[in-house]
Amino acid sequence: MNEANRSGIIQGATGEWEMVIGLEVHAQVKSNAKLFSGAATEFGGEPNNHVSLVDAAMPGMLPVINRECVRQAVRTGLAIGAKINKFSIFDRKNYFYADLPQGYQISQFKQPVVGEGCLTIELKDGSTKEIGIERLHLEQDAGKSLHDQHPDLTYVDLNRSGVALMEIVSMPDMRTPEEAGAYVRKLRTILRYIGSCDGNMEEGSMRADVNVSVRRAGAELGTRCEIKNVNSIRFIMQAIRYEAQRQVDILEDGGTIEQQTRLYDPGKGETRAMRSKEEAHDYRYFPDPDLLPLEFDDDFINEARESLPELPDVRKARLEETLGLNAYNASLLVAEKENADYYEALLSAFEGLTGKPATELATTAANWVTGDFFGLLNKAGKSVSESPVGPEAGAGLLALVADGTISGRTAKDVFEIMFETGKAADVIVDEQGLKQVSDQGELEAIIARIIADNPGQVEQYKGGKDKLFGFFVGQVMKATGGKANPKLVNELLRGTLDK
Ligand code: ADP
Ligand code: MG
Repeated sequence: MNEANRSGIIQGATGEWEMVIGLEVHAQVKSNAKLFSGAATEFGGEPNNHVSLVDAAMPGMLPVINRECVRQAVRTGLAIGAKINKFSIFDRKNYFYADLPQGYQISQFKQPVVGEGCLTIELKDGSTKEIGIERLHLEQDAGKSLHDQHPDLTYVDLNRSGVALMEIVSMPDMRTPEEAGAYVRKLRTILRYIGSCDGNMEEGSMRADVNVSVRRAGAELGTRCEIKNVNSIRFIMQAIRYEAQRQVDILEDGGTIEQQTRLYDPGKGETRAMRSKEEAHDYRYFPDPDLLPLEFDDDFINEARESLPELPDVRKARLEETLGLNAYNASLLVAEKENADYYEALLSAFEGLTGKPATELATTAANWVTGDFFGLLNKAGKSVSESPVGPEAGAGLLALVADGTISGRTAKDVFEIMFETGKAADVIVDEQGLKQVSDQGELEAIIARIIADNPGQVEQYKGGKDKLFGFFVGQVMKATGGKANPKLVNELLRGTLDK
C-alpha cells in the first residue's frame, strides 16, 4: 500500500482501523443580494449595514426568492454532474439563537434543489478517486454574535443574516485526510471556475462540517462525530487526524463512540465536545408556508448549462491530449481558471511571435509559467491577475530565448527586471546589452585565443582529463561577459579541442 493510502490507517493495539470521512461544505453563493431579500452581500462593512426588514425578521415581512441564487445552485449542480430537481421545497429549520432573529433558518430538507452527483479528486501519487455527492441545497446564513465588544453584553451583527449558502453534502466516501483535503480543493476550484462562490475560506465564504468515524476495514460504518465549521483545508486535515485517533483510543480501551458535535481548536490541535446526540436540536422541519415550492423548466436548466465555462477536468485532459503537457503541469495550470487562461493566452502569443505550432512550444511555455512565473508571483505574494507581466510580455521573453537572442539563464534575470519595472523583454535586453553572442566568427576567434593562452590545459585535456572541458567553457563565458550562446560555445569547443 502506498504512503497516501497508508495515512488513513491507524494502528491500534488490537489491529488496524480505517478512517471514514464525509463533508458538508457550506459555500456562499456569489450574488449581489441575499437569498430572500434585496440587501447587499458584500463582505465587511459596518455591522448591521446590510440588513433589510426581512433579514431582521420584522413581523409581517415576507421572503422573496432571489432567482440568481437558484441559478448559481443549478450551475453548481451541473458542474458536479448532479441531478437537478425541477421541483424542490424550502423548509423551516427551527432553533433558538441570538443571531437568528426569525427563530428558524430557511433551508431545504427532504427535497433539495440538487440531488446526487460526483467529484473526481486527484491524489499526490497521481491516482484519482470518485467521491459521491449526496445533495446540494440552498439555505440562509445566520448573523454573527460579537462577544468581545462589551464586558457584559453580546452584540449581534446581522450583515450575513439571510445570505445564500449552498450546502454540499458528500457521501462518506473519503478514507484519508489527504482525500478530504483534495476534495475541498477540487470543489473550490470548480466553484471558482464557474463563479458560483469565491471560495475564500479566510473570509468564511467556504467552510466545512467534518464527519469522522473509524471502523475495521470492510466493517459496517462506525458512529460518527461531526466537527463544526472548520475554515481551512489544513485545519480540516488536522482535525480529521486528531479526531480519528481519539476515537481509536476510546475503542481500543473498550469504550464506545458517542455521536457528538465537536469543535476544532487549531491553537491546541484538538477537537472538543460541543453537544451530544441527546442534546441535539430537534429542528421540527416543516415546509415554509411563506414560500411556494421552487419549480423551473428545462429552459432554465439549459441556460444554466450553456453559461458554464470549460470545466477543470475537461480542460486538463485537453491540455494533455492536444498540447502534450504532462499531468503535473496540466494540473498546476488548471487549478485556477486564471492560471490556465494566462497560459493559453501566452501560448497563443508565443505562437504568433515564433510562427511555430503550439504543440512545439507548449511544454516550454508550461515549464516557464509553472516555474519562473509562479515562483516570482509566490515570492511577491501576488495572484496571476495581479502580475505586472502579462501573457503577451511573457511570450515576448520566451521568443527571445527561442530565437537565441538571449540564453535561458539570462532570461531569468530579464524576467525579474520585467517583473519589477513592467518593461518589455526586448527593451531590457537592448538597454542592458544582454544580447547573447551567437556570432560564430567572433566566438571562434575568442576560442582560438584561449587555446593559445592555455597550452598546459589543452595538453591535459587531450591526455584524457575530460573535466577540463568546463574550464574552457568558463573561459569563453568570462571573455564574453557571460553572454556567449552556450550551445554554440559547446559545439565550437568540441570541434576545436576534440579534433
Ligand atoms: P446530518 O444532517 O445530521 O449532519 P447526514 O445524514 O446528512 O446527517 O450526514 C452528514 C454527513 O455525514 C454526510 O457528509 C455523510 O457523508 C457523513 N456521514 C454519514 N455517516 C458517516 C459515518 N459513519 N462516518 C463518517 N461520515 C459519515
Ligand atoms: Mg450535519
